Amino acid sequence: MALRVEKALIEGTHLVVEAGTGTGKTLAYLYPSLRFSLITGRRIIVSTGTKSLQEQLFYKDVPFLESILGPLNICYMKGRSNYLCRQKLQDMHPASLSGAEALHFKIIQEWAETTETGDRAEIAALPEKSTLWGRIDARTDACSGKDCAHFLDCYVSEMRRRAAESNIVIINHHLFFTDLEIKMKAPDASVLPAACAVVFDEAHELEHIASDCFGVSVSNRRVEDLILDVHKGTSDADRRAEVSKVAGTVVDRFALLWNAMPGKKEPDRIVFDGRPEFVVARNEIYSGVLSALQLLHGVLKSVAQDDEAVASLVQRTGQLFSELRYLMESTSDSAVFWIERRLAAHGTALNTFIQATPIDVSEILAASVFETYDTTVLTSATLAVQKGFSHVRKALGIVDAEEIIVPSLFDYPTQALLYVPKDIPDPRDDGFFDSAKAHTVEVLRICHGRAFCLFTSYEMMQKMHVALKDALPHPLLLHGTMTRNELLYQFRTTPHAVLFGTSSFWQGIDVQGEQLSCVISTGFRLLCRATQFYRRASKRSRTAEATGSLTIRFPRPLLPSSKGLAGSSGLLPTAACWSCSIDASNTSTTGIYSSKACRRTE
Ligand code: SF4
Repeated sequence: MALRVEKALIEGTHLVVEAGTGTGKTLAYLYPSLRFSLITGRRIIVSTGTKSLQEQLFYKDVPFLESILGPLNICYMKGRSNYLCRQKLQDMHPASLSGAEALHFKIIQEWAETTETGDRAEIAALPEKSTLWGRIDARTDACSGKDCAHFLDCYVSEMRRRAAESNIVIINHHLFFTDLEIKMKAPDASVLPAACAVVFDEAHELEHIASDCFGVSVSNRRVEDLILDVHKGTSDADRRAEVSKVAGTVVDRFALLWNAMPGKKEPDRIVFDGRPEFVVARNEIYSGVLSALQLLHGVLKSVAQDDEAVASLVQRTGQLFSELRYLMESTSDSAVFWIERRLAAHGTALNTFIQATPIDVSEILAASVFETYDTTVLTSATLAVQKGFSHVRKALGIVDAEEIIVPSLFDYPTQALLYVPKDIPDPRDDGFFDSAKAHTVEVLRICHGRAFCLFTSYEMMQKMHVALKDALPHPLLLHGTMTRNELLYQFRTTPHAVLFGTSSFWQGIDVQGEQLSCVISTGFRLLCRATQFYRRASKRSRTAEATGSLTIRFPRPLLPSSKGLAGSSGLLPTAACWSCSIDASNTSTTGIYSSKACRRTE
C-alpha cells in the first residue's frame, strides 16, 4: 500500500484502497506522504472521518514515526469550536456562574494559563457535556477577527500559522468540507493551507459527511445563538431596547413554529413530507416568523451603520431568513427534507432541526476535489462492495483512479464471533429494551466486562447505563462524562471496564489486546434513518432513470454499520482471543454480516 501511495503522489493520480483491519494503513500513507512532501516541498493534507482517528494519528502514529526519523513538521487542525476564544474567556464574569459551570470555569482558566494550542481535547477533567465550553469557544459567529485585541495570540490564528509551515496537516472530513463550502462562496477565505494532495482515511464517511456539510439546517439552537449574540452585540444603549424588543418577537414566533412542526415531541427523525400543505395550513405562524426576521434584519441593518460589529448579525439574520424559506418552500427534488428532534447533549431539552440533505454530491466533489487536487488517496477498512469500488466512485464522482484491496490480517472465522439474538422483539416494541438489556447483561457476564456498548442515540445510551449501573459487577464508563481521550485511557487501564458510547466510538478507536473483547451494538436507528433516506433517493432515481440520467446506489447504508461492528478498526482484538459482537436489531441488520465471514452463533 505504501508503494502504491507513493506512486500515486509521484504520478499525480487518484488511488482507492480498501485496507483491512490490522494492515497498518495509517503508516502506509503517512510515511510516503511525508517523504514526498520533504522531497518536493509540497504540502499534503490527511483527513479523517472522526476526531478519534485524527487524535490517534497525531498522538500515536506521528510520535512513532518521530521516534525513528527524528522531529517532523506535522500539525493538526480542528474546527473552530474546539479552540478556546481568549476574548470570551476574558469577558466572562465568573460571579454569574453557579454549580458545575463555576467549577468548569476554574478548570478552563487554569488550563488556559499553560496551553499552547487552546484545544479543549487537552482538558481531561472537563466533561464533554460541559455547557460552559459552548459559550467560550472560538466559533466564527461572535469573532471580531482583526479588530480583536487577542488577534495576534488567538489560538485559531496560531493553528493556521502552524499549518502554513507544516509538511502534513491532519484534519477531519467536516473541516475539509466546511473549508470547501467557504471557498465556493469566497475563494480567498480558505481556512486550510494550499496542498497538492489529500489522503482521506475512513473514506466510507465522505459521501455522508459531504451531504451533511452541503446541506441546510435551521434549528432552535441556531436561533437561540443568534438572539444571544444580538443581545450582546448591540453596544448602543439607545438602540438596545428597540433591538431587544424585536429579538423577543423572533423568539416568540419561532416558539410557535417549533411547536407546530409535525411529528412526535420526542427524539426522532422524520421525512418532512407535505411541506407546501404545512405552509398553507400554518401560514399565520410561518409568515409571522418571516416577518419578525425581516424586522430584526432591518433594525440591525440600521444599527450597523454606526456599529460595524453588528454587520455579521445582519448577515446571519438574512441567511437564517433565506435558508428557512428554502427549507419550507423549495420544490427541488435534489434534496431530502427532514425534521429531527434531538435531546440536548446535556439535560432533557429537545432541540428541533429542519434540514435538507442533498441526495447526490458527486458533481460537487468531482469539480471541487477530484479535478482540483493532483492526487487523492481514499482508504478505509470497508470501502469495496463485492470486491469492487464502482459504487464509491460513482457516489463521489471519481472518474479515474487506481484501485487496490489489501486484505485484513485477521482470521475472522476463528477470531471473531457474531451474535444476533433471535428472540429479541422488534426495536419499536415495548419489550425491546428489557430484552436487549437482558442479552447485554448475559454477554457482559460471559465476557467479564471488557466491552464497548455502542448506541446511535444519547437517550438510549443513558437509559441502558442507568438500567445496568447496579446490575453489573464491572466498572462502567459513560460517554460525555469526560473527554473522549480520557475515557479511552480509563477504559484501557481499568480491568473489566465497560464503556457506554455513541457514534464517535464506532470507529477510529484503537484498543489493543483482551481489554476490549466484545462490542455490543443497537444499530437499528441508524439503519432506519438510512432506509428513509434511500427510499426517497430511490424514488428520485426512478424518475430520473426514466430520462436516463441517474443510477442510485444502495450499498452505502450498509457500510457504516458493518464498519461499526465487524469491521471496526482497532475494535477487533489483536491477540488470539475471541471477539463477540451482539447486534440488538435483528430485524434490520442480520443480512449485513453474513458476507463478513464471521462465525455466527445464536
Ligand atoms: S480573534 Fe476571534 S476567536 Fe480569536 S480570541 Fe479574538 S474573538 Fe476570539
